[in-house]
Amino acid sequence: MTANPKIVFASGNPGKIREINTVLANSGLAVVPQSDYDTPEVAETGLSFVENALIKARHASQHTGLAALADDSGLEVDALQGAPGLYSSRYAGANATDQQNLEKLLADLRDIDETARTARFQCVIVYLRHQHDPTPLICSGTWEGRILESSRGSNGFGYDPVFYVPTHQCASAELSPEIKNTLSHRAQALQCLKHQFALHLGIKSP
Ligand code: IMP
Repeated sequence: MTANPKIVFASGNPGKIREINTVLANSGLAVVPQSDYDTPEVAETGLSFVENALIKARHASQHTGLAALADDSGLEVDALQGAPGLYSSRYAGANATDQQNLEKLLADLRDIDETARTARFQCVIVYLRHQHDPTPLICSGTWEGRILESSRGSNGFGYDPVFYVPTHQCASAELSPEIKNTLSHRAQALQCLKHQFALHLGIKSP
């Protein structure tokens, strides 16, 4: 029996790897973190989510010789002309914590009315068959909501405590992980990836 074909994921985030492997269960594919191959971090110098995801996937593929997956995501706030966007993880500075980023966001929006606090999470996931793949698979997901005036809930990470989900009338951090994983920008991009794999790699779409 041959081992499952391996795909390297250009992140060391165990939560994301778990999510991806759950979505790809029964596909015959095994997604492994780039840390298993001591892959160094690469600078995210792109000007869009898709460029950054491609930079990360190409780097991981080049380093490991494997097919590669990478994602890039962030929060766009309309009243801030799309900020923090690409810079969501470092909005309050290079080594800022999630809490510092969230506090800066609330401070920047303190004079903005509820109706003008519209925002969305964006996620792009790309797949490269090899480092020179000229036709990468590209999937994206968008999750619409608005920014609360203070934190609610304790699940999730990042901006989840201040991201209000109108369909469920609560903050993202008040959703169980199971529910968030059916709604979120990342969940939508992963569903798209599953369909793309079924179309292009002949993988079963469970
Ligand atoms: P990355 O794609 O893992 O680099 O995430 C970029 C940043 O966007 C994170 O550090 C968070 O600040 C924010 N972000 C992305 N997805 C989520 C989410 O599902 N909830 C809360 N914040 C998120």
